[in-house]
Amino acid sequence: MLFVNDIFYSIQGESSFAGYPCKFVRLAGCNLKCSYCDTEEALTTENSRKLSVSEIVNDLNKIGGKIRLAEITGGEPLIQEAVYGLFDELIKLNYTVLLETNGSIDLKSVPEKIVKIVDIKCPSSGFSHKNNYKNLDYITATDELKFVIGTEDDYAFAKDFLKNNLIKTSKIIFSAAFAAMSSKDLALKILRDELNVRLGIQLHKILQLK
Ligand code: SF4
Repeated sequence: MLFVNDIFYSIQGESSFAGYPCKFVRLAGCNLKCSYCDTEEALTTENSRKLSVSEIVNDLNKIGGKIRLAEITGGEPLIQEAVYGLFDELIKLNYTVLLETNGSIDLKSVPEKIVKIVDIKCPSSGFSHKNNYKNLDYITATDELKFVIGTEDDYAFAKDFLKNNLIKTSKIIFSAAFAAMSSKDLALKILRDELNVRLGIQLHKILQLK
């Protein structure tokens, strides 16, 4: 059984899949409490539903028809052991499955077919000390790393991180922390420093979708 905050159909907002229709499962509960968190309703299991994997799949079948892109997000999905059963079931059903994870939890057991979108927490989140560097061993070329940047310090941290670590994917996203830095300011920094990273824009927010 899994604690589920929400199941919905929307546009994927901020990865190399941005713009595609996607079915979302937002799991409840998180082991962090980032300063800029915009999913506070999913930080605890309060107000969540407890559903089995087959109940979740049934709900997914009712939305988005033939779309076969699904994202498991949170909260932090990997704090619930039963999420691995959901991965397996969605893979069996031929979904391309994206996992949004906060980067603090070991990724070793996540199946290879899952596209991992892994946060690297910058200092202004309050949780950069929770980055699990061992996870870099489990990142492949199909996975993505995401930095949410709200300050000059965060930007310097992200640049140093890329310089000082062996990163096995070219899919790197820099997103401005909403209300702390504008996307335009971040874009200008990326251009100035000629960084080969993708500027993440939260498409779903611009479109005022879930
Ligand atoms: S890891 Fe994600 S869900 Fe958890 S507190 Fe941070 S931003 Fe919110």
